[in-house]
Amino acid sequence: MITITINGKEIKIEKPVTVLEAAKSAGIKIPTLCSHEWLEKYGGCRICLVEVEKMPRLQTSCTLMAADGMVINTETKKIAEARKGVLEFLLINHPLDCPVCDKAGECELQDLVVKYGASSSRFKEEKRKKTESLEDPLIVRNTDRCIMCTRCVRMCAGVQGASALSVVNRGGLSCIEPFSGGKYDCEYCGLCIAVCPVGAMMSRLHRHNYRPWFISDTVETICPYCGVGCTLTLQVRSNVIGRVIAKAGKGVNDGLICSKGMFGYEFVRNPEKLRMPLIRKRGVLLESTWEEAISLVARRLSEISGRYGSKSIGGIASPRCTNEDNYVFQKFMRVALKTNNIDSTARSWYAGAQRFIENILGQGSTANIISGLSNSDAVFIAGGDPLSVNPVLGLQIRACSKKGGKIFTLGNIKGFQYFNPITLNPAYLTDTFVLEFILTELKKKKELYNTNSSLEKKIADINASINDVEKTSGISKDELRKFVDSLSQSLSACVVIGRDIVQTKNGAYNLLLLAAISYILNARIYLLSELPNEQGVLDMGCMPDMLPGYRQVANSEQRKKYERDWGSMLPNEKGLTIFEMIDAAKKGSLKALYVMGENPVFNIPDSKNVEAAIRNVEFLVVQDIFFSETAKMADVVLPALSWGEKEGTFTNLERRIQRLKKAVHRDGKDDWKIICELSEKLGYDFIYPDTESVFDEISRVSPLYKGLKYKYIERGNVMYPYNSSSDMAIVDVNASKHEISVREGLYIKVEQPLFHSRTLSRKAPALLKIYPNASVKINQRTADRLSLQAGGMMRITTKVNSIELPLNVDSSLDDNCIMLSNNFEDKGAYSLVEYSVDSVTGAACIDANDIKIEKAGR
Ligand code: SF4
Ligand code: SF4
Ligand code: SF4
Repeated sequence: MITITINGKEIKIEKPVTVLEAAKSAGIKIPTLCSHEWLEKYGGCRICLVEVEKMPRLQTSCTLMAADGMVINTETKKIAEARKGVLEFLLINHPLDCPVCDKAGECELQDLVVKYGASSSRFKEEKRKKTESLEDPLIVRNTDRCIMCTRCVRMCAGVQGASALSVVNRGGLSCIEPFSGGKYDCEYCGLCIAVCPVGAMMSRLHRHNYRPWFISDTVETICPYCGVGCTLTLQVRSNVIGRVIAKAGKGVNDGLICSKGMFGYEFVRNPEKLRMPLIRKRGVLLESTWEEAISLVARRLSEISGRYGSKSIGGIASPRCTNEDNYVFQKFMRVALKTNNIDSTARSWYAGAQRFIENILGQGSTANIISGLSNSDAVFIAGGDPLSVNPVLGLQIRACSKKGGKIFTLGNIKGFQYFNPITLNPAYLTDTFVLEFILTELKKKKELYNTNSSLEKKIADINASINDVEKTSGISKDELRKFVDSLSQSLSACVVIGRDIVQTKNGAYNLLLLAAISYILNARIYLLSELPNEQGVLDMGCMPDMLPGYRQVANSEQRKKYERDWGSMLPNEKGLTIFEMIDAAKKGSLKALYVMGENPVFNIPDSKNVEAAIRNVEFLVVQDIFFSETAKMADVVLPALSWGEKEGTFTNLERRIQRLKKAVHRDGKDDWKIICELSEKLGYDFIYPDTESVFDEISRVSPLYKGLKYKYIERGNVMYPYNSSSDMAIVDVNASKHEISVREGLYIKVEQPLFHSRTLSRKAPALLKIYPNASVKINQRTADRLSLQAGGMMRITTKVNSIELPLNVDSSLDDNCIMLSNNFEDKGAYSLVEYSVDSVTGAACIDANDIKIEKAGR
């Protein structure tokens, strides 16, 4: 420990820090322009000068390390003069257009000029004149305002790892340009905007709309898009979310956010949002009153249950809704409708993968702290691009690489292409053979601990020969050996798993191999989570075989506890999964479906099949915020409040429970509230005065949340199991390898784009500006082989459908890969693929054999 004195105040310091950081920790603010919490020390602007006793000149506090006995002054006449001089230099070029600059009121340069008073400059050079650049749809640049602090360039390269910006030209002509020219070709995290201290780089979303002092409220809440659960700071003006700002030090993300968090908030005020209930009358959906709509739903569900039995009704819950919404929904299905037919789209991979791995490695083995990634020495990624699916988690992996950690990828992963990953890129459908090889070699190279004899037994006979793997996968022996040699040397590895490796015929077996690899490496496991509450929807019991807290429906003791808590008998047979509900609807045994916050017609593979199945039910209720493809088919549509308009909690992929805060007010009903009103009509009173009282019940009945209160969640560090053990029943699982015919032809890959998130992002105008339309992507070699031209219209045909899309060439794709997104109306990849259900994980295995791509019009 060392002691220094700043402005007469003695400060004890335990770890090496700069004088600037030491002052900050003692509440003393030293002004800076080029320095920033997120960035490496730079020492460029010289505003942070301080006087240090026994040192001859003024020192830059952002680069000077604090040393024992130092006596420092941060505000003296000499310092003020020096700062004024620096500001005069900056004002040589900086235009004095503060009245029209959108940064006015929060410009760090303006504030410093007010404080140190460089009202004019002694230097008489002519000011630079550069026209405002509006070439980009989201970011406006006024380079004549730039003070060349290079925060943006360092942010983009050093923290985001996108390296999309650079200083161009020299001397007075220097300015910041995106490498791509006028329009940005980057990850649109918006962090360059967040760190720019002046009005040189700004968001166009709120340009000319307001000044910072018009902001009436600042709300910290959780992002609605993915399972990382970033804390977003929303600024509200006149009951409208004006902008999202990135604030260092906030949440699991330390304020870093991605394009969806930064620019995707506008859906909250989209005029297309549903406002009134709709009832189908003579084939047409017409506006109705709440009373009429809720009474009708209650009556029809009651009739159908009476006529066909309670198993004829199913419910689909939502990984976009809060824990409170999902808890009340599954309770409604079980208590009021007496069915366990409740599931969600988390089933399509996350739910099954998590249960499978946790059954092998123990509960909690897939829940790890996101920041742990950057501190590991190796990250092995299989099945998805973390930079697209969970971008801020991806940044932790980039940070790991920057600190010297090694990145291993199975398949080419675009987000890491400039981070020297060690990559094995097997031929289509041969990942399994490569994983078997990795496991075989790791078993030889590392000790088995004998702490999990069941797993060790399962993998004892897996022995892949390098000759065979080379032949099947097309990867040379040399590459295979190099990969395993390097991976086996890691001491603190992480394994990151995405859906692509699970949604195949060998999905469960791949998971077994990945679990075994993680076991041998003693690695932490992370499952990529595409939606904000995929974890929570499972924890709340929106599963056909599990009650809240993973208590088994079939276990009478566990079921009885809930019967006592809820004061009602519960059905004791496992219900139908979401895929089984689709099948049952098709066969005619499922007569009514209640869909909350989900769009199954679009978000489940084989859209036409799902649509036909749903069309077959007698009564469809859709409760949502937009008029989705599924809502269009409904008998009754119930409008719910959206993110930003409601309270509640989400649970992120680390199992951290976090609170959502209401930012804007709208007359309307929370999802849970609609369900309660309906339940009351059916004779079951769920009495919750507010969202918090729903949560209080969850923490009373679910063993995972024992004693947990909103006020504790506020601290931001609540992970479950809270105050109790989780003791989920561990079931012995196994998975064997399916024979697959390795094909050489074209295959479909469903894109997981950075800028979109299923049906929600298509209602966010800014995200649509970055990525406006669906397209089909192939690499240049495949395009050349098929004589196809970028930009041309293509027809893609499979056994189940045919759609037309423009062609884009993407060099990061493998030969024969046809990449399609599932985020745009009428053009979804899921409309072209079929699926089968993995009997072990219950996840969907996506299949699109016999795919054809040709110029449209042929
Ligand atoms: S938005 Fe993000 S990725 Fe794009 S230039 Fe700015 S910092 Fe770089
Ligand atoms: S654009 Fe902003 S952040 Fe970038 S160098 Fe200029 S003033 Fe600094
Ligand atoms: S990483 Fe996920 S949670 Fe964070 S801002 Fe992006 S979409 Fe939102």
